[in-house]
Parts: sequence; structure tokens; C-alpha cells
Amino acid sequence: MKRYGVSIMKLDSIFISHIHGDHVFGLFGLLSTLGMMGRTAPLNIYAPAHFAPILRFFLSYYGEGIAFEVRHVPVKTDAPAVIYDTKALEILAFPLNHKLETYGYLFREKEPERNIDKDALARYGFTRTEIGTLKQGQDVLRPAGPDEGATFLNGFIRHSGTERDLLIRAQDVTYRPWKPRSYAYVSDTAPFPELAEWVKGTDLLYHEATYLADLADQAVQRHHSTTLDAARCALQAGAGQLVIGHYSSRCQDTAAYEAEARTLFPRTFAAQDGDVFDLPLEKCQ
Ligand SMILES: [Zn+2]
Ligand SMILES: [Zn+2]
Repeated sequence: MKRYGVSIMKLDSIFISHIHGDHVFGLFGLLSTLGMMGRTAPLNIYAPAHFAPILRFFLSYYGEGIAFEVRHVPVKTDAPAVIYDTKALEILAFPLNHKLETYGYLFREKEPERNIDKDALARYGFTRTEIGTLKQGQDVLRPAGPDEGATFLNGFIRHSGTERDLLIRAQDVTYRPWKPRSYAYVSDTAPFPELAEWVKGTDLLYHEATYLADLADQAVQRHHSTTLDAARCALQAGAGQLVIGHYSSRCQDTAAYEAEARTLFPRTFAAQDGDVFDLPLEKCQ
């Protein structure tokens, strides 16, 4: 993270899939470094329940220099569940199929508030309350003005008793400012049928691909995936891009992994340290 200019002090939460060494050993050095850098803000670590004794053990020996609170948030779920929720972002955990309890994570931007169409704003002169209502996607009902009827842009007049109300529909006078983006992190796992559904439509899918397809029997035995398993998941999920990684020590030729996955899913990239995958905001108007 330091090498690529990412501030480790800004870390707020860490999401651990499972407690195999290749997924947790780096954490302890990181915690010590943060301690030495004088961090005081609490740090959340989302991880399976059996991470607790490991963390306790580490802190009992090396915790003296760590002045901040290390909060372990145990993850336990057998279907996608929201484990982190802010105004702009939600994070879901979902179980994977590995040798021990393992979770994938889906990072998803929330649907943004709708924007008011400029012409409609000029036409109707919405009050602050009405703007709030419309931005939430709800319709506005107000008494119709004397000349409102034939010429208005949107909405329609509806009669209730003798009153004439003007119904202004949010869908007519607002628009979605951008399309929310998502990133799914899937490591380590053997393929299973629900997975593609759980990461459906994600813009960027990271999926482990430990083996080339000719070692499929190894993959099955060790509860891992091949390039083709990862590509098939991306295809079934309708993902925007696929990033693969977690290569077996038996073959580090990333071009071979990439080429093989691309036979099924052309927008595949074999991850290297330091790679950046852009997910530009797609403006809707
Ligand atoms: Zn593992
Ligand atoms: Zn692993």
C-alpha cells in the first residue's frame, strides 16, 4: 500500500475472507506498523468468528505498542447479508465453498438521490419539501393552479371531489444522476451454483483462479477455482470486468491464466501488484 501511495492511516475497515495464512499473515505487520505510526482511531476487522483467538494471541504478545482499538466484527452468514452500511455504501458478505469457513464480499454503492430536471424546476417552482420528496423518488400531489391543465410538461390533473389536484410524478421530473458501481471480492472458493447469482451484475469481479484448466482435479481437491471456473462465474453473473489472481506456485505465468480465462470471458485481466482498475462514474444526464 505504501509503495502505491495508499495511506494506511486512512484505513477504516479490513475484510478478511478466511484465516488461511496467505490471507492473514500480512495483517499483523500492518497492525504493528499502524501502532508505531501513532494511530489512535479504532480499526474494524471483519472476519470469521475463529479469527478471534488468533487476534487475541497476537495482541497478547505484541499489543503493547498498539494504542488503538482493534475491533473484530465476526462474520457469519449462509446467504448474502449486509454487514456494513453507510449513506453511500453497503457491503455484503456471502459464504464461499472452501476448506474452512470463508466469505466473499460485495461492495456496492447505494442508489443515489435523484436529480430534479431543470426544465421541470422552472416550470413548477418546487418547494424545498417537494424537492426532498421527489429526490426520494416519491410523487408530489398539490392543488392545481387555475391555468394548469392543457399545457404542462409533466404530471397530470386529477379530480378529487371538487378540488383539482396536480400529480407530479417523480419519474417524469427527476433522473438518476449516475449508475451505482459495485465490486465483488471472491477468494478462495470452489465453484458453486449460487455464486454467480450473488454477484450478479457487478461492475468489477475479482475471482481467484488458482489453477489453469488442465489442473482442474487439483482445484476440486483443494476447493479452489480454475481460470475457466472464474470466467464462467463472470459470464453467468454478467460482470463488467473480471480480475483474476491467487495463482498457484506451480505456475506464475499470468499471461497464460489471462489467455485461458479470455476464451470464455474476454474482459479478463490477470492481476499484478499495483494494477489499478478504473470504474468511471457513468453519468446518466
Ligand atoms: Zn484458502
Ligand atoms: Zn488463499
